[in-house]
Parts: sequence; structure tokens; C-alpha cells
Amino acid sequence: AEITAHYEILDRFGSGAYSDVYRARRRSDGLIVALKEIHDYQSAFREIEALQMLQNSPNVVALHEYFWREHEDAVLVLEFLRTDLEALIRDSAKRERGLASILRGLDACHRNSIVHRDLKPANLLISDDGVLKLADFGQARILLEPRCVNEYDIPHEPLTPAEAWQPEPSEIVEKDKTYKEGLENQGQNELQDYHTNNSVEEADDKEMNFQDGNTSCLATCTTSDLEDDALKRHRDDGNGGMTSCVGTRWYRAPELLYGSVDYGQEIDLWSLGCIFAELLKLEPLFPGTSDIDQLCRIFDVLGNLTEETWSGCSKLPDYGKIFFGKVENPLGLEACLPNHSSGEIHLIQKLVCYDPASRATAMELLQEKYFSEEPLPVPLNELRIPS
Ligand code: ADP
Repeated sequence: AEITAHYEILDRFGSGAYSDVYRARRRSDGLIVALKEIHDYQSAFREIEALQMLQNSPNVVALHEYFWREHEDAVLVLEFLRTDLEALIRDSAKRERGLASILRGLDACHRNSIVHRDLKPANLLISDDGVLKLADFGQARILLEPRCVNEYDIPHEPLTPAEAWQPEPSEIVEKDKTYKEGLENQGQNELQDYHTNNSVEEADDKEMNFQDGNTSCLATCTTSDLEDDALKRHRDDGNGGMTSCVGTRWYRAPELLYGSVDYGQEIDLWSLGCIFAELLKLEPLFPGTSDIDQLCRIFDVLGNLTEETWSGCSKLPDYGKIFFGKVENPLGLEACLPNHSSGEIHLIQKLVCYDPASRATAMELLQEKYFSEEPLPVPLNELRIPS
């Protein structure tokens, strides 16, 4: 009631794993906003916390205000962003210009020790004046021990949210318990469609499919151990723990696929590389149909993950549990992206590489020659957005 007193709901605009999004008009001044109703406490908490820290970034969706409701629902009042990168992938020749905006948004996250953990085209939204913004922080985490792969060149202070919202510690524990119980009761996920629906939720790791036709380099795998471990790790994920079951599979870094719970912001950089490649290729770089197939597709392009390609990888929790045949002639990223400039391929190679420590940071990439000309926001009328 409090919400409808202030906002007139116009239509339902979208929905996600835990949310419904409505287009609404603010009664006081007619401003069009997005009302995101989140039905999961943990997800709402993470999104509010991350967005509050990132309000100074023009490349992150603006949070105007939020309401908590009964049954742990939250309603976030967000700036309304009409379209997402997915529309551009299908439709625009101007997509490259958006890359710098994504990098700025991600740089803002990483400076604040926030890992987005679910970067994908559908979570990159575009405003009416053509500014690309990061959205959907429902899986975001603030690193307990902030660490950057490389120091940024520019000194920075973490932003402090104007009105930091802090629940009582007892409240968090209580809600977390409910959250975890909810997960345990959750049924089998359905295999879902392209982008909007292929978000990897917790049950996803259970549906590793060893029969699909794409497991070209797969030799053997002990599924039960992996499943148990994946589930256990998920359950361990409370306020302090990290889980490897995050992110949409196609954009998920190899360390996550191998069960790492000690990952950092580098997982977003891998996702970013996959998104950049997709913008050039106009199709996903690694559209895995299962977690095993996902790794196979990566190996087919980059070669097997071994101590030579990433010294230390054999310590990953699931490394010894999955045995893959040797890929004799990996395709290489160049061959995946024919007809693209070496500059573009070079950018992707700096992100889509095994060793997380050697992935370039968002700030480093922004300093690349490729971005040296100030990228102009793409006005909407230049984009052919499907109606
Ligand atoms: P979830 O966290 O549940 O996956 P998302 O944040 O991805 O939810 O939102 C689901 C859908 O709602 C998006 O794909 C998009 O279509 C729409 N949406 C989300 N935020 C906005 C916004 N600020 N403006 C307009 N549409 C939005």
C-alpha cells in the first residue's frame, strides 16, 4: 500500500529467478521507474547492499529507494532501463561502443571489493540515452578479504553508502537459515533457455549431463563426488563462506567449474571476456549444455587446463575428480573469432585465460589503446531496438 501510494504500476516488464519487475510511474513527478520485487531475502539483501555502495557509478543501475515487506520480500525502486545488451547482440552494429561502459561499471564494483558473480548480456541494461549499466546484483558478494589481482594505477577510497543499511547480526543468521532450508527443499531445476533462463541456480550442478553429444574431450568422471561436493559447498555458503555454484554457466570461469570457493573478482573478468567475444561473434563463446560440456568447450578452444597453463590448478577442489582426454589441437581464440581485429582478439585473450592472476583488470583494459578514444554513449535512435 505504501508503495502504490507513491508509484502507479503500469505493466510487468520482466522477471528473474527470484523477482518480478514492473514499470511504474512515480506519482510525485511522473518519473518512470522499475519496481523490482525480490522474493528471496538473501538475494534482496545482496542487491541492496551492493547497489548502495555503487551509487556514484554512472555505469551501475541507480537505486532510488527500497521497501521491505512481509514474508521477507523487498521492493527496489530502480532507474528504468528499457533494454539490455542481448537486444544489441542481435540487433546493433554499434555494440562495441558499449564495452567501455561495461568496464567502467565493473571497475566501480571491483574497487569496492564487490564481485558481481552473474555477469551476462541480460544483466547489462541500457538507458534511453544509450548508457550501458550493470544490473542484477542479486548474487553479488562483498569480499571479506578484499584483494585485487593487480593494484590499480589510480589510488582510490572505497565509497561509503550515504545511508548504509545494516540489519542486526541476529537477523542475518536467522534469515540465512531460512534461506538454506529453502534451498534444500528446492526441486530439480528445469533446463532452461538461452540467456534469460540459463542462470545457474543451486540445483544446476546436479544436472551434469554426461550423455550429451558435445563432450568431445570427456573421458571419465565420478559424478556422485562432484554432486555431493557441489551441494555441500552450496550449503556452506552463509555470510562468510563462498560458493562455487554461482553465475550463469556459459559465463562461468573454469575455477568455479572446478569447485573453487576461494575465487575473487577474476571470475567477473572471465565472464566479461565471454561477453566481449559474444558481442563480436553474435553467438555465445562457450554455450555449454552441462558443467562438464562447459569445460570441454573451453578446452577445445584453449587446450586442457594443466599445471603448465595455470600453475596451481591441480589444487582446485574438483581437479582430480574429472578426467578429460587430451585436446591435441586446441582451436585458439583467433580461430573462434575470424574477421575480427587483432586488437579485439587481444582484449579477449587478456580475459579468457586460465590463470586468474593473469587476467587483465577492468582498469587495465580501459587503458588499452582500443579504448583511448572517449566512447560516446550510443543514442537510442541509433540502435535498432526490437519493439
Ligand atoms: P533476477 O535477479 O531475478 O534475475 P533481474 O534483475 O535480472 O532479476 O531482472 C529480471 C528482468 O527484469 C531483466 O531481465 C529485465 O528484463 C528486467 N529489469 C530488471 N531491472 C530492470 C530495470 N532497472 N529497468 C527495466 N527492466 C529491468
